[in-house]
Amino acid sequence: MDCIFCKIAEGKIPSKKVYEDDYVLAFYDIAPQAPVHILIIPKKHFSTILEIEQSDRELIGHIFLIANKIAKDMGVNERGFRIVVNCNRDGGQTVFHLHFHLLAGRTMHWPPG
Ligand code: AMP
Repeated sequence: MDCIFCKIAEGKIPSKKVYEDDYVLAFYDIAPQAPVHILIIPKKHFSTILEIEQSDRELIGHIFLIANKIAKDMGVNERGFRIVVNCNRDGGQTVFHLHFHLLAGRTMHWPPG
């Protein structure tokens, strides 16, 4: 499968890593949309959030715990941050490997664009 984030997870394409364990990788977005813009990905391939199944609940919960840890480690927890998952065309998804954007370091707007 020709998936750029699978290649990043396998270390075949370099990334600026923030966190890694057996299940998850977090790295800086190449085109940051905020002063802090990190992508958190499961190493397991899901094309979109729609492919998550019951058996993935622990993995997805783990991703949120890692987001929590990264936010605290980066000191953006008190001011706050935003987690974004884009899905398919209307959601603005461009990379079809499930990823969670962690955006921080500026005030986020609502509604999002
Ligand atoms: P999305 O539009 O939600 O699918 O987000 C994909 C994100 O991946 C975008 O914010 C891109 O800037 C980012 N991206 C694409 N290629 C890379 C890469 N090689 N390293 C880091 N971030 C990337």
